[in-house]
Amino acid sequence: MERDKLEYKFLHANNVVRPQIHFKDAVDNSNSTPFERKIKYKPHALVPLDFTASVDETPKSLPHPYVHEITNIEYPQRMFETAEPEMYKPYDTTSPTWVDTEEKLLEMMKRLEGAEELAVDLEHHNYRSFQGFTCLMQLSTRDEDFVIDTLELRDKLWMLNEYFADPNIVKVLHGADSDIIWLQRDFGLYIVNLFDTYFPTKVLEFPHHSLAYLLKKYCNFDADKKYQLADWRIRPLPVEMLDYARSDTHFLLYIYDCLRNELVNKSTTDGNLVRVCLQRSNEVALQKYDKDIYDAANGTGPGGWKHMLSKWKYAMNPQQLAVFKELHSWRDHTAREEDESWRYVLPNHMLFALVERMPVDSSGVIGCCNPCPTLVRMNAQVIAYAIQKAKREALEAPKEDAFKEEDKSKSETTTLSTSGSSTTKMQVQSIKRSNTSVDPALFDLKKVKKLRTENAAKLEKKSSDLFGSCL
Ligand code: AMP
Ligand code: MN
Ligand code: ZN
Repeated sequence: MERDKLEYKFLHANNVVRPQIHFKDAVDNSNSTPFERKIKYKPHALVPLDFTASVDETPKSLPHPYVHEITNIEYPQRMFETAEPEMYKPYDTTSPTWVDTEEKLLEMMKRLEGAEELAVDLEHHNYRSFQGFTCLMQLSTRDEDFVIDTLELRDKLWMLNEYFADPNIVKVLHGADSDIIWLQRDFGLYIVNLFDTYFPTKVLEFPHHSLAYLLKKYCNFDADKKYQLADWRIRPLPVEMLDYARSDTHFLLYIYDCLRNELVNKSTTDGNLVRVCLQRSNEVALQKYDKDIYDAANGTGPGGWKHMLSKWKYAMNPQQLAVFKELHSWRDHTAREEDESWRYVLPNHMLFALVERMPVDSSGVIGCCNPCPTLVRMNAQVIAYAIQKAKREALEAPKEDAFKEEDKSKSETTTLSTSGSSTTKMQVQSIKRSNTSVDPALFDLKKVKKLRTENAAKLEKKSSDLFGSCL
């Protein structure tokens, strides 16, 4: 049955204050600095926290701190035995506890004491942010549901490693790939003893593998998955969203009981199906978060232009290809600088529309995009110059040597006339230096700032020279 669409107010909240401006850990989208691990204290350690990165030419992030504990885990025996599934508390007559202060967090921690299993889920936002951030954590015990405001408690949640890294407490999640990444990126949290209910759906060869399917099968509960698309930054959290959020963990420990029983019953002496699922879950728990590096020259990686190009059905001529690469890298560095997603800066279909029509003035650029994204409108002139330049250079490609001082000074004049937007100078710099690819140094925000200062000084010098010569 087709359900109603998500109401607009949940999808696009008006007047949401960007939560990241209050984060104590400053957002670092630069292309050159690796992710800085947040964990400072390691409960349930079998080996001490490793503070040294491998000595290498390129800076790298520190290793996953719980590799040893996860790979050498000794599971509690109860995880391999059948037991009567413990029925969840009724959904309609119970309500979740909202946790948004340190005091409430400590109170919740006390209530988690003694729990042998915890069900966990996260809600995330990645439209108005470059790397994304976690907005909510849902945590259920056998008795109660907690919904944690992770925007408020972002720098306090490391405390939960006391439970998350405890090998004697099973953490039950469904499809935990992203959750593992988000937990370590935002809070420095790691899971030792993960049971991902996705793997039993594969091992037991269920016809579907979603949580919605499991909820229907075991609990006859209809999950309204349209809320997955909601803007989870909204505060106060609308009751509909709170209700949906807690349904993601409320039933999960009961489902775990049912799945475990089936896995044990279908196991043979050669094949312990619980172990198979735990093995697969550990592979998920061992994932490490690292920033995506943008490779302007080669377009490699999931966010690279090569991947996007492979989705384009039509042929591109050399000029279009040059424009495509230029706009793709403009979009990446604008997104990093403004801390927005690529999708917000310039959605794929608009990028392709610009490549198809290659407009060379700002009104043409704006005309290709409907509705025109704010950052495209603000930078329409810069984009038009980028297109002009890429087109011209693609035509001149064989005689690259001709790109000399004359062009360089022209670009600098352009800088003067288009300055104003923060990305303008950077873009013109990149146009100046590149043929169809962009100098990777320009994606290092520290270097970019330095370049900008130098550029501004140069321009100042130039005008005073000019003034001087007039005198
Ligand atoms: P879930 O584990 O289903 O609660 O999803 C966690 C988060 O993943 C959501 O808060 C969304 O940010 C994102 N997400 C899940 N499913 C989708 C989807 N179909 N489209 C876009 N985002 C999704
Ligand atoms: Mn989830
Ligand atoms: Zn969820």
